[in-house]
Amino acid sequence: SSFSELDLVPELLLAINGLKFSKPTPIQAEAIPHALLGKDIIGLAVTGSGKTAAFAIPILQALWHAQTPYFGLVMAPTRELAYQIKETFDALGSGMGVRTCCVVGGMDMMDQARDIMRKPHILVATPGRIMDHLEHTKGFSLKNLKYLVMDEADRLLDMDFGPSIDKILKRIPTNRTTYLFSATMTSKVDKLQRASLRDPVRVAV
Ligand code: AMP
Repeated sequence: SSFSELDLVPELLLAINGLKFSKPTPIQAEAIPHALLGKDIIGLAVTGSGKTAAFAIPILQALWHAQTPYFGLVMAPTRELAYQIKETFDALGSGMGVRTCCVVGGMDMMDQARDIMRKPHILVATPGRIMDHLEHTKGFSLKNLKYLVMDEADRLLDMDFGPSIDKILKRIPTNRTTYLFSATMTSKVDKLQRASLRDPVRVAV
């Protein structure tokens, strides 16, 4: 298969070509067609599989049609992973004027609040810190969120982000699209996916 068969907007195809991705990786080839149909997705995939673009491409495609603030929230277990995910969205969204923001622990809350209030389209966050902002940053809400991604869900739960994730789930629309990616399917991940996804398609590589 090839990216040009996927019916992506030209800005996205150009960015993909610019990154020298010649064809979709297996997880991308499996997940992206379902994602473009609006399905929730559980992806069993490790780092290095191309999982980040597997969720970034369909979100950016949807964003192109409706550029609204706080369109997508990606939750990741570590700062380093969050910055890598942000870079992937920046690279793939370079031709679309996409605004992204990383919201991770260990950074100044006030600086972050200022960046959040500039209304980025995509927030990439660690769960504890984005929850802090939902509780304390005046005027910030995720009531218009369209896409939620939980990346490395097994690690998110191992790092005890479960309670923050539960609180965040209560503050975002149920009418959204959700993607969960995990290297392993543990009982905790299964419980989380049952609480947060609707009729998901499972893809594994
Ligand atoms: P990830 O698993 O998302 O951390 O991606 C691993 C690496 O694969 C990153 O450096 C990506 O830039 C790269 N990558 C993702 N998709 C493709 C693709 N279709 N072709 C070539 N490289 C890719």
